[in-house]
Amino acid sequence: MSRFLSAKYADLIPYVPGEQPRDTQYVKLNTNESPFPPSPKVQLAVEREAKRLNLYCDPECTELKAAAAKLYGVRPEQVLPVNGSDEILYFSFLAFGDEGRLFAFPDISYGFYPVYAAFCRIPKREIPLSPDLSVDYRDYLDLDATILLANPNAPTGTCLPVAQIERIVCANPNRLVMIDEAYIDFGGESCVPLIERYGNLLVFQTFSKSRSLAGARLGFGIGSEALIRDLNTVKYSMNPYNVNRMTQAAGVAAIEDDAYYRANARMIIQTREQTARRLRDLGFTVLPSKANFLFAGSDRIGGEAFYRELKARGVLVRHFTKERIQDFCRITIGTNEQMEILLTHTEAILNGKGC
Ligand SMILES: *Cc1c(COP(=O)(O)O)cnc(C)c1O
Repeated sequence: MSRFLSAKYADLIPYVPGEQPRDTQYVKLNTNESPFPPSPKVQLAVEREAKRLNLYCDPECTELKAAAAKLYGVRPEQVLPVNGSDEILYFSFLAFGDEGRLFAFPDISYGFYPVYAAFCRIPKREIPLSPDLSVDYRDYLDLDATILLANPNAPTGTCLPVAQIERIVCANPNRLVMIDEAYIDFGGESCVPLIERYGNLLVFQTFSKSRSLAGARLGFGIGSEALIRDLNTVKYSMNPYNVNRMTQAAGVAAIEDDAYYRANARMIIQTREQTARRLRDLGFTVLPSKANFLFAGSDRIGGEAFYRELKARGVLVRHFTKERIQDFCRITIGTNEQMEILLTHTEAILNGKGC
């Protein structure tokens, strides 16, 4: 660090994104992207919009907001488009946290939560997952804290039913409950319909995973008009043009081609279930997943060794060094062909064969 770095950041440990190799030699199953390209209509819309890059984009994202509101069954005033759902997380920590108002989230969840807490200087309380690595909703009924849950959770993939989320929201009428639904399109049930009834519920979604737009950076906050207004106060104090022109166009076109993404999500779900069965047949423990990834570990090989052996064979998965989950790897669901490659190498690794 330079001698000019603010003292308040001296101890900050930034988030470490999954590897993004510049070459394409890897079967990339490490950052939960979609293996499918964006719909051709999205590509066309982006090309068209590129001709207008000399002009600032619409800070209100009027067209995109209207399309998203229709998709989610809410009013445009209940939606905030953002530069990836990481941004809505950041806005939320800024808007709704302070030193006296701590954030509670599971000890094993999205790695960005503790980073934002530290960055925004908001105290955190990490609630341990159950021994089976699932979230127990009963742990969130009596907390004096803002609650933040990924549902499905990451990197585990387990999902709570809407009724249990509703219990949490009801039990905390004077506390904000934030539900990060990054993976909700892969078989979970969204709690967006609850926002009409509960002013203390804020839902995040992203187009990075199920809608093949990770590189475009597009996410949404969905909540009461009052919550969205608060978030807009932060946005307009920071970066009014947070969703660029091409991404707004891509988002509108993606929503118009909803059937394309639903079909892709169905394929991912099918491939996920097949892959889970095959890994279990090989002796792996595989958590039940409603996401586009599997969290799997085996007694026959450590998580880190499995990650390394796969990488040596050209397959990238994600390993986390946290003690409770170090025996596992998170494997993104790709195409059937990609999963065949993963399984073939996995078998070879378990049988002790060389590359
Ligand atoms: C991927 C992910 C995000 C971030 O998504 P972006 O929209 O790409 O910023 C947020 N939350 C969880 C749980 C994720 O896995």
